Amino acid sequence: MRILLAEDDPVIADGLGRALRRGGYAVDHVASGAEADVALVSQSYDLVILDLGLPKVPGIDVLKRLRGRKSAMPVLILTAQDGVEERVRGLDAGADDYLTKPFALPELEARVRALTRRGTGQPRCIEIGSLSYDQADRVVKINGQLVEFSAREIGLLEVLLLRVGRLVSKDQLVDHLCGWGEEVSSNAIEVYVHRLRKKLEDSGLRIVTVRGLGYCLESPDAAQAAKA
Ligand code: CA
Repeated sequence: MRILLAEDDPVIADGLGRALRRGGYAVDHVASGAEADVALVSQSYDLVILDLGLPKVPGIDVLKRLRGRKSAMPVLILTAQDGVEERVRGLDAGADDYLTKPFALPELEARVRALTRRGTGQPRCIEIGSLSYDQADRVVKINGQLVEFSAREIGLLEVLLLRVGRLVSKDQLVDHLCGWGEEVSSNAIEVYVHRLRKKLEDSGLRIVTVRGLGYCLESPDAAQAAKA
């Protein structure tokens, strides 16, 4: 999947770019509306993350030109907290979704998945064993029963579910759980994992600690095979 990231704030662009690349996306970054325009004319993207407050050509004009070319590329706009009018204009101009700054990385990533999924037809709901997870609503059910998870726990579960059977390092977990300017210690991660394990007890899913490396979520089938 290829994403165009049009953002002029170097700190946000750097952090976002890194997080998306770690998530397996190829990211092209531009820092002005003019560059975004050029990129969008010459290349097709699975998603455009478009800051509306861009220099040279405003983001809203980039969006209007894109839709003017009859392109249906999914567009997620980034707007200021108090920019209600800006958001309305953006959605009216054909944006598919928006996020207000500052935002938490897990939320951005969930929206990115939702938007890119529309193009791929991937299921919105992940089902493993007796657990089902709705990626769009971030709702977890175990044996059909709704189970409450904190935002941190959901973030953690999501990272593990999307990489089921694969090793996830503590650093990756920290990166996925933290928004801008936030910090989560390695000890805190252990606490979240502990809580998550308790909540997953009836699901058949198991979080295995790989000492010194990280964690791996095992599906019930894999856990059975390991016991046998
Ligand atoms: Ca900006």
